[in-house]
Parts: sequence; structure tokens; C-alpha cells
Amino acid sequence: MSSTKENKRVIMLIDVNSAFLSWEAAYRKAQGAAGKDLRDIPSIVGGDVQKRKGIVLAKSIPAKKYGISTGDTVGEAMRKCPNLTVVAPNYALYSALSDALVDFLRELTPIVEQYSVDESFIDISGSPALTADPVKTGDMLRCEIEKRFGYTVNVGISSNKLLAKMACEFEKPNRTHTLFPEQIADKLWPLDVGELFMAGRRTVYALRECGINTIGELACADRDFITRKFKTVRGNMLCDYANGIDNSPVLESRPKIKSIGNSTTVPYDITAPEEATLVLLSLCEMVGKRLRASGMQAGSLGIFYRNFEFGHCAKTMKLPFFTQCTQTICDISERVFGEIWKRDGIRAMGVYTADLVTADARQMMFTDDYEKYDTIEAVIDSLRESYGNDIIMRGGFVNSGLSGVRGGTGEGSYLPRMHSRL
Ligand SMILES: [Mg+2]
Repeated sequence: MSSTKENKRVIMLIDVNSAFLSWEAAYRKAQGAAGKDLRDIPSIVGGDVQKRKGIVLAKSIPAKKYGISTGDTVGEAMRKCPNLTVVAPNYALYSALSDALVDFLRELTPIVEQYSVDESFIDISGSPALTADPVKTGDMLRCEIEKRFGYTVNVGISSNKLLAKMACEFEKPNRTHTLFPEQIADKLWPLDVGELFMAGRRTVYALRECGINTIGELACADRDFITRKFKTVRGNMLCDYANGIDNSPVLESRPKIKSIGNSTTVPYDITAPEEATLVLLSLCEMVGKRLRASGMQAGSLGIFYRNFEFGHCAKTMKLPFFTQCTQTICDISERVFGEIWKRDGIRAMGVYTADLVTADARQMMFTDDYEKYDTIEAVIDSLRESYGNDIIMRGGFVNSGLSGVRGGTGEGSYLPRMHSRL
């Protein structure tokens, strides 16, 4: 029965061509930046040469003609092409543009899996209008993405994720390809076994040693032999993939959290600066904890408070770096709060963070001066996880009668309200 269902699925992979470079170029163009389009000149997006030995993360087609490859060091690339334009990566921008594309795909179907920063699977099986002519749907998608966002994508279409992925890798850029099961013998099997998804360098080396050089030869190989050679799980996967077999579903990614914040209402007016600061810090503790728990780093921070007359005061600022560090959030919040507080009685306060990126994105990004707190805060988080929030608190809270960590509402609840009031 499952094979009937399998045949009915229509899955697409949408893959941004030279993503970082396309995004950088499209963004500059939309901003009306001077100079030639990065895509029309030899250019790369790559790490900072001064700070560390950066590598080429994306290249233009003219740069490729100089023999520049992704993964080259920036130094190597510049030797290959002395008049190369080198652009430092802007991960926050790429993350935002990646999300914008996913939001657009969700207009088509709710079943969207953001597979990587520049690749998303969609399952359109539920829509007869879209599946009637899948290639037409793919072409329509490509055109609409180029029109809306100013960059090109490849679209791979099939009845499962593996084949859609393999189809997407065929000729680039700006192409729609299909690889349905009935096309496997023609389009997949002649390819070098190194082209197969998940076949890494060592696997390919071992396969070649057995005289298996094409995906077709792997597909015909004896499964028992392959599973003995590569262990059961990996061996079966290789045989399945070579035969175009993959039953994994398109996993709907949850819409991204746009902001993480925390607020509280107090039952009396706070007028003492020390007390206001302690409440603020207790809010920051939870914001930092929530950022770390969700694996996010914030690029902007906002503070608001409300007085007894329901007067509202707020300020948002862009941070010079991305952070999930409680100490950083406390320090900046205290400063911003000092700037906006008119010494009126406080009834409610809030701290929120936005412009969120995943924490792993930061590793390649700017680092802040607060890295030493990473370990301390990880320990504090685990203590609080095991023994409750009050197991450890800042010195200022001792004998203050105030809780060191204040939990209010959670993700995403501040931004719309805050902005409507600003
Ligand atoms: Mg790509």
C-alpha cells in the first residue's frame, strides 16, 4: 500500500543558486548600491582575510571561470584572480532572506521543510492544481522567486526527497529538473557514484575499490555484499539511494520564533532605582535562559516600562554583535533603561530581544567580549534546571525579597505590541 502512496507524492526541492553571493547581490541591488552586480564580475563571499584564514563560501560564475572553488582559502582565490571582489559574509542578512523565501513557499503549501539555509523541500501532493503539471509549477515558482526577490533558484521535482535533491543538482543555475522513478535508469544511473547523496569521499573510495563507479553499478550490486562492507544501516541506505528509494516525509518546520522577551507587572509602584534595576535584571535572566534554551542569538534588544497612569516608554536598539549571554543583556538593558526612565513610578517592565539567528550561525560571525560567560551561564542553566530558578541568584537579590529570575510571558509576545506603541 505504501508504494501506491509513494507514487502519488510530489516533492520539490528549491535550492538558491550560489546563495550567499546571490543574496548579497540581490540585496545590494534592491538598496540601489553603486557598482556592478556582484554576479556579473569575478566575486566571492568569504571569511575575513585579516582576522583568520577565511575560505570561499560562494562565488560568482565569472569567478568560477578563474578556477575558484568553494572551500578555497581567500588567499588562494585572490592569487587565481587578482582583481577579485571579496565580500565578507553577512549571516544575519542571509538568515533573514532565507526565512523570507520559506514564508513565500508557505503561501503555496504548509508542508515546507527548511532543509538548510538555502534549500527547502515542499510537498505539494495535496494540491491537484499544482501537481497536474509539476514542471509548470516548478517554472512558475522559479519565475515568481526571481521576480519577488531578485535571485534565481534550481527546482528539483520527484516523488521523494532524495530524488528531488538529486534532480536539483543537475544543470545550474535557474533550471527546473525532474527525476521521477521511471527516469532513474536514464538520468541517475549513468552518474558517477560520487554524485550520490550521502556518498562521502571514503565511501566512494571503498566503492571504487569494489569496481563500483556509477550509481547504476551500485544499484545493481548485491545488497548483502554492500551491507557487509558498509555495515547494515549505511549499506542499506546506499543501496536504497542508488535505487531512488526514500520514504522520509517532508517535515514541516515550525515558523521561526521572531522574538524572545519577558515582562512583569508589579503590584505597587517601583520608584527606587536599585529596585527597578533588580526587577530589570530578573527579567534579563529569563530572557538569556530562553535564548540559550532555543539555541538563538539576538541582534537587537528592547526595553519598555509602564507607569501607574498607563504611560508607556520604550526603546529598541540594534546590538553591535549577536548574543545569548545574560550578562550582556543585563549590561545593555541597564544602560538603555537608565536612558529612558523618567523616575516615574513603574508598574510594568519588559525586556525583549529580536533579530534572532541560530547560535551556530554566530560561530562564523562576530563574537562579543562576553564569551567567558558562556560556560558560567551553561552551569547556571543546568543548576536551575535541576533545583529551580532560585538555587542561584545575583548578589543584589540576597535579602531583597525579590526573585532573581522572573518569568512572564514568553516568545514573540512583545514585538507587535511594542511596535504599535512606538
Ligand atoms: Mg544552493
